Amino acid sequence: SKEKFDAIVVGAGPSGNAAAYTLAKAGLKVLQIERGEYPGSKNVQGAILYADALERIIPDFRDDAPLERHIIEQRMWMLDENSFVGSHYRSDDYNKPPYNRYTIIRAQFDKWFSGKVREAGALLICETTVEELILDGGRVAGVRCDRMGGDVFADVVILADGVNSTLARKAGFHSELSPKNVALAVKEILFLPEETIQARFNIGAEEGVVIEMMGSVTEGMVGTGFLYTNKDSLTIGVGCMLADFKANPNRTAPYALLEKLKRHPSIAPLIEGGEMKEYCAHLIPEGGFNAVPRIYGDGWMIVGDSGGFVNAAHREGSNLAMTTGRLAAETVIAAKSAGKPLTAKTLKAYKDALDESFVMKDLKKYRRLPQILESSPQFFTTYPELLNRAAKTLFTVDGVDKTTKQREILGSFTAARRLTGLVGDALKLWKGTR
Ligand code: FAD
Repeated sequence: SKEKFDAIVVGAGPSGNAAAYTLAKAGLKVLQIERGEYPGSKNVQGAILYADALERIIPDFRDDAPLERHIIEQRMWMLDENSFVGSHYRSDDYNKPPYNRYTIIRAQFDKWFSGKVREAGALLICETTVEELILDGGRVAGVRCDRMGGDVFADVVILADGVNSTLARKAGFHSELSPKNVALAVKEILFLPEETIQARFNIGAEEGVVIEMMGSVTEGMVGTGFLYTNKDSLTIGVGCMLADFKANPNRTAPYALLEKLKRHPSIAPLIEGGEMKEYCAHLIPEGGFNAVPRIYGDGWMIVGDSGGFVNAAHREGSNLAMTTGRLAAETVIAAKSAGKPLTAKTLKAYKDALDESFVMKDLKKYRRLPQILESSPQFFTTYPELLNRAAKTLFTVDGVDKTTKQREILGSFTAARRLTGLVGDALKLWKGTR
C-alpha cells in the first residue's frame, strides 16, 4: 500500500519507543518497525534504568513498569589479580520514593514500553527489517522493508536502529563505525534466590547494589566490569574497546575475560551458585562527542545509539537514548503544528534542543576522554595495581614502622611512573573530565 505516515520510527529500543510514544501521544500517525520477534527480543538483558529520562515521557511509569530493584548503593572497585580497593556510597535518601535508578531486565522493559507506545496509538510491526531509506531528490521519503510489500512513506523517518545503524551508513549519513569508537561488552544473567542476593549484598527486598570495576579484569585494555543486582538474578559483564581486542588477536577472548572476572576471589563468593540462563555480546558506541555524526537532514533524524549517544564515563546510555528520542519527537510535533515542512532547516531545532540538554553538555564535557584513555593504559593497569599494593602495605601489621611503609608506598608510585608521569597523569584526568 502507498499509505503515508507522519513519521516512521525504525527500531523499538528505548530511543525508538520514546520517539514513537511522544509522537503518537500528540496524535500523529506513527509507524514503528522492529526487526525482532517482539520489542526487546534482540536487546541485551540486565541494565540500569535512570528514572528521570523516562519520567519526562511517562510520568507514572512506576505504576506498572517491570522494575527489578531500586539502587541504594554504588560501589567502585579497582581490582588487581586477587584483591580490590573500593569506595562505596550508600544512602538512605536513595531508599525514599520516588527512586532515581532501578535495575531492569531489558527484554521485559522494552516489551512494557512498547505496550505503552501501542496504547498511545502507534502502529508497530515486528519481525520486519528496514533494508534501506527511500531517497527522493536528496530527502528521505520513506523506508524499504524486507516484507510488508516493500515501500512505506512518511514526512520524517527517525532512525532508532541502534549502534550498527547500517541504514544511516548506506544512505551516506554516517561513516563506517571505527573500532576506536565502540566497546564490545559481554554479559550474562545468573539466577539466585532473592534472599541469597539480599544477604550477600546487605540489602532488603527491592533494594539494589551496583558494582563498577576496573583494573586487572580488562588485562590492560580500556574497559570496565560491572555487576548489578536484579530481583532474583545478577547481571555481570565486562566491556572493552573493540580496537583493543583487535590490536592483539592473542588477547583473552571477551567471554574468557568474563569467566576470569567471575573467578576473581572478590567476585566469586557474590555469584556462587548462580545459574546462567543467558549470555550475550553487544556493541556500545563509546566514541563520545567527537564521534556523534550528523543527526538530522531533510526528512530524517537519528536518535539513541545510532547517533552514538552514550556517556561511557558514567555508564549512561538508555537515558540519552530516551531523551534524544523525546526531543526528536517534540521537534517534529512543533514543526507540524506550525505547518512547517520537515526539512533540515526545520529539524535543526532537534540539534539545538540537544545542545541545550544534558546529553550534549555531558558528551562535550568528556570529549577528550576517549583519546586520553586510549593512550594511557596505565589507568587500567599500573594504578589499580599500585593502589592495591599500597593498601596491602598499609594494612598489613608486620613490625615495619608506618613511616617506612609510607616511604615504600610513595616509592612504588614514583618507581612506576616517576614524578613527572604522576603529575602528567593527574593533568590528563583533569583535562579529560573538566
Ligand atoms: P537499541 O536498544 O539497540 O535498539 C535498537 C532496536 O532497533 C533494536 O530493537 C533492533 O532490533 C532494532 N533494529 C535495528 N536495525 C533495524 C532495522 N534495520 N529494521 C528494524 N529494526 C531494527 N545503558 C544504560 O542506560 N544503563 C545500563 O546499565 C547500560 N548497560 C549496558 C550494558 C551493555 C552490555 C550494553 C551493550 C549497553 C548498555 N547500556 C546501558 C546502553 C544501552 O543499552 C543503549 O544505550 C540503549 O539500548 C540504546 O537504545 P536504542 O533504542 O538507541 O538502541
